[in-house]
Amino acid sequence: MGFIEAIFSAGAIVMKAIRTVNQITKTVHQVTKNYINNIVDERFQERAKENQTAPSPTPVTVNIQIDIKKIDLEETELEKKRARDGLLKRTDLEKLEELKKQSDDQFEQWQKAKTQEVVAEQAKNPDAYETSFLNNDKAHILQFHMGQVVLEKRCGCGRPMFLQHKNRPDGSLFMLNDFFGSCIGYYNHPNTQCKGTQKFGTQDISLMHKANVFELKLSNLELHKSFAPRPVQIMVIDRVREHLKVENSDVLCPIHHVPMVLREKRNHLDVVVDMFYLQCPHFGCQQLVKLKSVAQIAAFLHHKEGRGIL
Ligand SMILES: [Zn+2]
Ligand SMILES: [Zn+2]
Repeated sequence: MGFIEAIFSAGAIVMKAIRTVNQITKTVHQVTKNYINNIVDERFQERAKENQTAPSPTPVTVNIQIDIKKIDLEETELEKKRARDGLLKRTDLEKLEELKKQSDDQFEQWQKAKTQEVVAEQAKNPDAYETSFLNNDKAHILQFHMGQVVLEKRCGCGRPMFLQHKNRPDGSLFMLNDFFGSCIGYYNHPNTQCKGTQKFGTQDISLMHKANVFELKLSNLELHKSFAPRPVQIMVIDRVREHLKVENSDVLCPIHHVPMVLREKRNHLDVVVDMFYLQCPHFGCQQLVKLKSVAQIAAFLHHKEGRGIL
């Protein structure tokens, strides 16, 4: 892809090296807009062709998610059978392979459709978006989009990589170099685990994101400080808890591609950034995304309620 590094399902685009096009942010924003308009034209034409054969009022991504869930149910049935009987007949094994392939294919379609939706939305509503260059002051903007993205690059083992960052359970401020790419095999059982990581190039990266998110208008430090008062934290904990066991359609399991579900850690010390995580609901799946920063919690609430933490 080159120009576009990653697309977040919440409607942001990460771009690399546009700073070299022009040093002035305002112009860069314009360049970005023009670029997006160009790809949108092509994509709209593609979509127009598709729509002639299958008109659908619901977003394509929603329909694909429904299909993926159906496939997942079938897979689960076979996997449970295998867990119960210790093995599967050859025909069942073949069926399982086929289902996994179908699910991966559908996910590819989902990614394409999602890109199209995000890009089209930005083209339709250019003023609703802002472009920010990443620096330590804006690390939270990247964090806001964590868990929603699978990077273009692959791990040495062939599996996709997702955006991850170091833990800071002491509550200190996150910095840009805390971020890295992590193999989706990280949460696997020990025999198939992969701890592969990759540097996440934070040089000359800009992010086009929604302008109406209040938390993103603040600096990293300001956001950090505004969340410090305990009453603010308590209110946020209560709000997040309302969504326990509910799925988040913005964060999909990188293996099963179904929406992850909100859970609360069993033994936590009441520290907001170390209490909640999203987990894949698939039978026996170990994939999870920890909500370990203020920005991620803001993003979660924003997705669920249209309002972040402030
Ligand atoms: Zn790997
Ligand atoms: Zn999973």
